[in-house]
Amino acid sequence: MQTAQYSGSTSVSKGVTILGATGSIGVSTLDVLSRHPEKYHVVALTANSQVDKLFAQCCQFNPQFAVMVEEGAASQLEAKLESSECATQVLSGKAALETVAASEQTDYVMAAIVGAAGLLPSLAAAKAGKRVMLANKEALVMSGKLFMDAVKHNGAELLPIDSEHNAIYQSMPVNGKAGVKRILLTGSGGPFRQRPLDTLSSVTPEEAVAHPNWSMGRKISVDSATMMNKGLEVIEACWLFDVPSSDIQVVIHPQSTIHSMVSYVDGSVIAQLGNPDMRTPIAYSLAYPERIDSGVDELDFFKTARLDFETPDFARFPCLQFAYDAHEIGGYASIALNAANEIAVESFLDKHINFTEIPQLIENVLQQAPSGTPLVLEEILVQDRVSRQAASLWIKNNKKRTTVL
Ligand code: NAD
Ligand code: MG
Repeated sequence: MQTAQYSGSTSVSKGVTILGATGSIGVSTLDVLSRHPEKYHVVALTANSQVDKLFAQCCQFNPQFAVMVEEGAASQLEAKLESSECATQVLSGKAALETVAASEQTDYVMAAIVGAAGLLPSLAAAKAGKRVMLANKEALVMSGKLFMDAVKHNGAELLPIDSEHNAIYQSMPVNGKAGVKRILLTGSGGPFRQRPLDTLSSVTPEEAVAHPNWSMGRKISVDSATMMNKGLEVIEACWLFDVPSSDIQVVIHPQSTIHSMVSYVDGSVIAQLGNPDMRTPIAYSLAYPERIDSGVDELDFFKTARLDFETPDFARFPCLQFAYDAHEIGGYASIALNAANEIAVESFLDKHINFTEIPQLIENVLQQAPSGTPLVLEEILVQDRVSRQAASLWIKNNKKRTTVL
């Protein structure tokens, strides 16, 4: 082993803002940052309403700003911080998320808010020319071209955090996509890959959020159980890598050891493998183009019993097909798909609809979406609102239907 030598490069600490710091991705990001205090410092941490968790994070990482979207929660956090040694300034409201994402002190933004709520702050980071580490796939599904244009026209850097897209990014040619035949997007198939079809309607929220390989937030866990997560990821990959959906093949790989692959015209297939732990793509995106320790154990091939592969079952998982369809129809349909799914998942977790009603609701809302693609942000937000209203109406009418029966 060589001893460390002066390399001649000056290392300047990068300022990191984490949108959604109290969530699963936020916590994993802070874990990686804590291993490299000389390389990164935390500029801002944001959360929706979890006061105690954000307070503890502020005490440990001493950010300049903390944002709590809910005003009451922000006042509580402020009071706690006043009686501590931590000098973090508390901001509140949705606009404050955009302020910290675009702030001068911020170099890198981890976009890890769940759902459509992350769109405006993620976009603000792109418009401010930051390195955007994108976990919030819903933002890209909703805004597609608008988001990619914002990255391009403002000199931002976009690095995918989703494990599959990070794997594809690592397996792509360095420049462009010469010689690429197709993208092989892997997915575990979730907890219900083999569950008898006639029992799916009685799936409980607890069963749906218990993912076999990954520990994640509740919304994405339900998305994995319906395979809408893979559907959203197909659309996400189309935008990130500028390919048609017909060039993306979903491969079911229950062990989640291969995180995705790129197939080339010469017969080569390049894959990225590792233990299923989000700290790997997070560390990759923080350090890019270098590599840093993420805290993830090295993959032990001798303990990896086998690697299995299957084709996806579109009849069992209709949401996957809806996502392919929506992307073909256009931007409005993708927004409708995402909005309907967010309402359906929330409703399922609150036990207002059952598991098999999730795709029924989404199909109904998708059918109401116009064709074409919105060109400006306001049109995106209007379609999101209209589709959420349509989804809520479906639930209300569905309740009436089931009460009559
Ligand atoms: P999570 O539910 O654990 O955390 C969500 C975070 O967003 C929390 O900090 C919460 O306070 C914040 N938040 C929620 N609603 C908000 C609102 N209305 N306004 C502002 N902040 C709000 O979610 P997660 O599992 O960390 O996932 C975050 C994103 O990353 C999702 O888009 C998900 O699809 C994506 N992702 C997650 C994983 C994973 O392993 N968890 C993997 C790939 C992609
Ligand atoms: Mg993923």
